[in-house]
Amino acid sequence: MDNLLEIKDLSTSFFTHVGEVKAVRNISFDLKRGEAIGIVGESGSGKSVTMFSVMRLLVETGKIVNGSVVFDGRDIVTLKEKEMKEIRGNNISMIFQDPMTSLNPVLRIETQMVEALRLHKGLGKEEARKVSVDMLRLVGIPSPEKRMKQYPHEFSGGMRQRVMIAMALSCQPKLLIADEPTTALDVTIQAQILEILNDLREKLNTSIILITHDLGIVADICDKVNVMYGGCIVEKGTTRDIFNNSKHPYTWGLLDSVPNPKTLTKERLKPIEGQPPDLLNPPKGCPFAPRCKFAMEVCLQKMPEEFKISDTQRSACWLNHPLAPKVERSTKRGV
Ligand code: SF4
Repeated sequence: MDNLLEIKDLSTSFFTHVGEVKAVRNISFDLKRGEAIGIVGESGSGKSVTMFSVMRLLVETGKIVNGSVVFDGRDIVTLKEKEMKEIRGNNISMIFQDPMTSLNPVLRIETQMVEALRLHKGLGKEEARKVSVDMLRLVGIPSPEKRMKQYPHEFSGGMRQRVMIAMALSCQPKLLIADEPTTALDVTIQAQILEILNDLREKLNTSIILITHDLGIVADICDKVNVMYGGCIVEKGTTRDIFNNSKHPYTWGLLDSVPNPKTLTKERLKPIEGQPPDLLNPPKGCPFAPRCKFAMEVCLQKMPEEFKISDTQRSACWLNHPLAPKVERSTKRGV
């Protein structure tokens, strides 16, 4: 598998009246074709800004200040807006937590899907209709011919999200970015949507970036995980590395806040106490230090290096330094 996306030393800032907000700081990661990666972190960690940088859809005050984002062999940071529009329409699709933000409430599903296919793929009306019906069937919408004639409000939340996935994938993008796609849904529907995404990834070889605050849902679908905090990637590895062998206290905190189906009734979930750092004035040391019970003097003074844990795992925490005290996560739950 070769890389579809290569992000290197990416930094994105917002230039506001009160100063420069360093929302994403020096992050690097790759995504292979057909691979799914989770970007996990609390709100304000930089995960959504990372993806809006990849799409080049930052608000006016936002700017990529450093680094490269190579998508399918082209650095999108340097592309003209016209070329970027083409990539957005044909090669990268996004789905959001609330499908109503992307679906037009006054147009039938058929009109919306057919128009998108005609515009981006140049299909004739009949062919676009056929592809739309096939896609709706693929995401498990019963009687797709009939349902195509309906308006978004005639669908339940879960069904709307399926329509959104069908629309996003009908143009056969190389990359699907799913931003908290299941947060508004109940647990059963959430599991169904994740299964559909997984299924389609295999059938269509689409790469997926799943953005979420919930480490629990990445286990179902992602091959790899990037954990973000304070605009930085603080740990990355395979899903198994992160769940079974995490070497970062922030990831431990996220893992402790994932419900465990076996012990849910006995064990209280532990929220991570404290507030995320102020990105107007990011700390010079580890961004997690004020909330970390293992923080040492070096953590306050110096940004942690990225320590190599294995060929697949990196962790930016001073506890991985050979001279640091040996500390392990107290509870372990495997995947
Ligand atoms: Fe905690 Fe220090 Fe590791 Fe940061 S570098 S997570 S403060 S131990």
